[in-house]
Formats: sequence, structure tokens, C-alpha cells
Amino acid sequence: MYDFVIIGGGIIGLSIAKALIEDDKDAFIAIIEKESEVATHASGRNSGVLHAGFYYSANSLKAKFARVGNKELRRYCKANHLKINECGKVVLAQNEDEVKGLEELKKRGDLNGVELHWIDKKELNCKYPNLKTTQKALYSPTTSTVDPKEVCLSIKKDLLEKNVEIFTNTKYLKKISTRSILTNGGELKYRWLINCAGLYADKIAKDFGLAKDYTIIPFKGIYLKDKKNRSQLKTNAYPVPNLKNPFLGVHFTYAVDGSAKIGPTAIPAFWRENYKGCDNFNFKEMITILYYEAKLFLTNAFGFRALAYEEMRKYYKPHLLKLTSGLTNKMNLRGFDKWTTPGIRAQLLNINTLELVQDFIVEKKENSVHILNAVSPAFTSAFPFTRWVVKNYIKEKNEQ
Ligand SMILES: Cc1cc2nc3c(=O)[nH]c(=O)nc-3n(C[C@H](O)[C@H](O)[C@H](O)COP(=O)(O)OP(=O)(O)OC[C@H]3O[C@@H](n4cnc5c(N)ncnc54)[C@H](O)[C@@H]3O)c2cc1C
Repeated sequence: MYDFVIIGGGIIGLSIAKALIEDDKDAFIAIIEKESEVATHASGRNSGVLHAGFYYSANSLKAKFARVGNKELRRYCKANHLKINECGKVVLAQNEDEVKGLEELKKRGDLNGVELHWIDKKELNCKYPNLKTTQKALYSPTTSTVDPKEVCLSIKKDLLEKNVEIFTNTKYLKKISTRSILTNGGELKYRWLINCAGLYADKIAKDFGLAKDYTIIPFKGIYLKDKKNRSQLKTNAYPVPNLKNPFLGVHFTYAVDGSAKIGPTAIPAFWRENYKGCDNFNFKEMITILYYEAKLFLTNAFGFRALAYEEMRKYYKPHLLKLTSGLTNKMNLRGFDKWTTPGIRAQLLNINTLELVQDFIVEKKENSVHILNAVSPAFTSAFPFTRWVVKNYIKEKNEQ
């Protein structure tokens, strides 16, 4: 019997195992992952940005863990000789109204203890001549980029050295009892089960009588890549986000391999792993997801109609490129000619209120713990967030 069985080999499952083994080096831990390698889904397909933590309202788990997570992952990358680009980030205002948005972000940053600096138009032009703003811009020095897959593979290696067992090609199929589950490799017995299954976390939680108020609405993020960085991007450049939804708006990422990316979008997907064409098509999932998307469309909850329409248009390359024109000053966009690997957000919808859930959710029943809505910046926040989960939900030393 394992002390802990973790479902999902993304950054959250791997970091939970790291927190558990650091707490008790003799713990008997297994991670099961349905794919042939860890970080095949969101953890290996994201923007790779270590967010600084200034977008999130002060009482949220996102605010609590992003700043510290950023610091710890930067330190982890350096200690393990992983690639990191500490190029910072600027948030740019496209009009006078957005300057107010910048001020709100600065307020949030101050409350969350995040280092931020104002830079005026002149300074921005001097430092980044191909970017533009109205009046001023917000500069975050701690925002960095990493290769998320490389980070996950490094954590996997650490865990294997500490005798954590990682079973790939092993899929959770169903709950047998409070002490065992069925996988395609047979029965697994445990003292604790921790569900970190990303796009399937809500479905698994429902088997345990949880996540009753939620379902996942998958949102696809696609990117256009300028492999040789002909745009000469030197920092991450973002618009002022609409803080009413959890997406950051189309932005530029200065990736760790020296390339530049535009994206990601937030296009409603029709099934959970709906990356491209009919990949991983699942009819039952599609019916449920279409049902909720139709409901959102009809009620126009959180302005879903406009969001869906605007996001769908971003499949058209010239349109996506045009959306960045408010951020750039004669930037050469010709290099952005290739769509790159898409990612899908495991975004929870509250089925009672028809609102998108903003924060991370942790639910517990008996000896099972379920991590839901581990959306951005869960990659950045993974180390301190999962330590907190272990302390508060498994070891029960409540530190809220
Ligand atoms: C487009 C995009 C851009 C993003 N950008 C950023 C960013 O710049 N910075 C940031 O901090 N965050 C970012 N995020 C968010 C970040 O990627 C996620 O928060 C994080 O990867 C979630 O990790 P996870 O382990 O919960 O999920 P996942 O990485 O999806 O892992 C879940 C794992 O569970 C496995 N699984 C599912 N069902 C089963 C089953 N039945 N049996 C066994 N295994 C199963 C899956 O195969 C998967 O490997 C982004 C996300 C997206 C989609």
C-alpha cells in the first residue's frame, strides 16, 4: 500500500510529490500519469512565464503564492542549471482609460509585496524602442521565462532519485473504495489520494462526491512564433488585462530560447484535449461542454458572446497580428509566421452562478484531496502552493 498516490504528472502533481518527500523522506509515493511522459498537457504547453504576482486580488491563493513561487522557481532553475530568461515585463496602456488599469495593477502589486516600477514614455522608448504606451508603463523586473517542460523533467529526475515511483501510460479509471482505485495497470492501494489531473480533475473529484458546483470549460491558447526574433523583442510586453476574466490578453513573450511569441488566445474548445482537428475527440465530453457553452452564449454570462466571437477571430493570423498594433512601434512582425504548440486551460465554471472561477480550489473528502482550477499562474505558484496543500489538507497543521 502506498502512503500517497498522486494522479497527474503535471507541475502540480510533481510539486505535491516534492513537498511530500521533503516533509518525510521515507514516504512511499506513486505518481500515475496517463501519457507516456510527464508535462504532456498544460505544464508542457504554457507560455513559460514566471509571473511576478501583481494581477491577483490580495486575498486570493494566486496572490499568496505567485510572488514566492516566482522567487523559488527562479532559484530552482539557477541551482539546477536550467534555462531562464530574466528579461522582466512591461504592461502597456493603449489609451488614457488603460492608464487607470495600470494604476489598479500597481495597487494590487503593492498589496501583494511585488516589486514594480513606473517608467515613463521616454524611458520606454529608450529601453524598448519597438514598444509604445500612453503616458507611462508598469515594469516588473522579476517576471522571467523558462522552458516549462525542462523544469518538469528536472523535478521528475529529483523525485526518481528520492525513490518516488512514476508510472507513465497509467490512467485512473475509477474509484474502487476509499483506499483503492482502478487504473489500466490494475488496482492501486493508498492511504491518501491526491488528484492533480488538470483537465480531468473535476471529473475525478466527482467520483469522490466533490466538485459538485463545477465543470471544466476548456479554453485553448494558441501562439504565433517568431523563431529568430526578427521583431527584436527584448522583454515580455502585455496589454492591460480585463480583470473580470482570468485571461491576460494577447501579449508578447520573450521566450527562453530567444524566440518571440504572440498569444495565447482563449478560444472556447469543444472537448478537453481538443488541441488540433479531431485529436483526442470525445463525443460525451463534447455534448456536456457544448451544453454549457450554449448556456453561456444564451445568457451572455460574463460577456461570453463577445468573448467567444473575438477569440474565434484570432484563428486568422492577420487579425491576431493586428491586435498587437496598440503595443508596438514599427515592430517587424513578419517573423511571426508559424503557429506553435497550443495549450488548453483547465478553467472551472461555477454551474450555479455561471461565473468563471478565478482562484485555485482545493477540496477534500476523507483521505482524498483534489486540486481544481490550477490555471495560470499555477505553474509559477506550484512550489509554495503545493507545500501549503500538504500542510493544510494532509498534515492538517492549519496555516491559512
Ligand atoms: C496556454 C496556456 C498558457 C499558460 N501560461 C502560463 C504561464 O506563463 N505561467 C504560469 O504560471 N502558468 C501558465 N499557464 C497555466 C499552467 O500551465 C497550469 O496552471 C499548470 O500547468 C497546471 O498544472 P497541472 O499539473 O495542474 O495540470 P497538467 O499539466 O495538465 O497536468 C495534469 C496531468 O494529469 C494527467 N491526467 C489527466 N487525467 C488523468 C487520468 N485519468 N489518469 C492519469 N493521469 C491523468 C494529464 O495527462 C496531465 O499530464 C498556462 C496555461 C495554458 C493552457
